[in-house]
Amino acid sequence: MQFLSAQKNLKGKTVLLRADFDDPHEASRLLDDYRIRMSAASIEFLHKQGAKVVVVSKTGRPEGFDLSETLLGPAKHLASLFGKKLVVAKDRMPDYDLQHIVFVPGDVREPQTQELIKSAAQKDIIILENIRFYAEEQNGDPKFAEQLAGLADIFVFDAFAMAHRNEVTVSLLPKYLPAYCGLQLEKEIAALDKLLTMKAHPFIAMMGGAKISDKVGAIRNIGKPADKILIGGGPANLFFLAKGYEIGKSICEKDKLDLAKEIMRNFKEKIVLPLDVLVAKPDFSDPHFAAVEDVKKSEAIFDIGPKTILEFSKHIKTAKKMVWNGPMGHYEIKTFSHGTIAIAQLFASKCRRNCYGVVGGGDSVGALTKAKVLEQVDFVSTGGGAMLDYLAGDKLPAIEALRASKLKEKR
Ligand code: ADP
Ligand code: MG
Repeated sequence: MQFLSAQKNLKGKTVLLRADFDDPHEASRLLDDYRIRMSAASIEFLHKQGAKVVVVSKTGRPEGFDLSETLLGPAKHLASLFGKKLVVAKDRMPDYDLQHIVFVPGDVREPQTQELIKSAAQKDIIILENIRFYAEEQNGDPKFAEQLAGLADIFVFDAFAMAHRNEVTVSLLPKYLPAYCGLQLEKEIAALDKLLTMKAHPFIAMMGGAKISDKVGAIRNIGKPADKILIGGGPANLFFLAKGYEIGKSICEKDKLDLAKEIMRNFKEKIVLPLDVLVAKPDFSDPHFAAVEDVKKSEAIFDIGPKTILEFSKHIKTAKKMVWNGPMGHYEIKTFSHGTIAIAQLFASKCRRNCYGVVGGGDSVGALTKAKVLEQVDFVSTGGGAMLDYLAGDKLPAIEALRASKLKEKR
């Protein structure tokens, strides 16, 4: 694999960078900027090496040209991180003699837009509109790949959260351009490899979140070296169901009972389930703690309880290595956020001492931010599903494509 970090001089080159601006947002308001911030490193590096940078990314899941998912807001935010104002270029590039961060809203399949991008000054940073506006991106359209490849000399992939997908700007472009692993992706691979290979015990894995089906591959693989697997959130509810407890209106993938049973069978001694939970009515009224055996039909489990926090903390305190994906409860609502926040704080405090800890998943990162401990964790992955697939030992299409890319640059 070729690494961007090893590149010394990119003067005169145009680089197509697949970055990740896909942070949680409500309408056009960003709720978090972790992925944009982590994308800034490769952009700055390329810029400093003298390259012209053409950034592509997606945000949200638009179908077609849906301007409610424009990349303009994330682009503005990126510009602000560099202390610059974003310029929007519709039919010509800004011509005064300054370096710019330029947003190009035009259709990248149109020759006019391609000419516009080519007319940008060397050292400009150009950000294209949401790449998911084009059905071709997800369809792996070779003509679209050619059009994009025609804009640049080199391709850099730096959107780890997309690495498990097969899309044009993810796994196809390395067939069209000399391809490099971006700075954030390089860090992701190093951190996750360290987590997988480092011999340190106790190794404590924590899994919560919404669906067990997303995580089962990672649990199967990590369950072997793990000493304890602490389970919360939706997956815990499924285990309760498997044990024959009432879970009322709690979120639960009821059709995945066999997965819970399989994990129970294989990792019986390692699984640690909540002892008590915070339940409420489905409309969130009447919140109160209950033992896991005492949940009523009319209630839903929304968080772990204080006895569970204490039990989990005993395991976390012994850890030499930890990984966490998925909040312990419905942490978006303050009443139900305390279990997740407490676990986040314990996790971070261990990372500050003698333990290597990795966290991944959009909501898990959101929880670290809420708990104000994001900076203290050893490694916070930008990937959710991609991290879980990597930890499951799966081959990720983007990484395989970078490894297979044999094209060399024309000098
Ligand atoms: P991540 O994004 O970190 O991978 P997931 O997407 O798997 O995590 O799960 C996060 C979601 O799970 C959050 O929206 C959270 O509210 C929800 N969740 C976790 N536990 C519960 C629960 N007991 N009841 C309702 N929602 C829950
Ligand atoms: Mg999520």
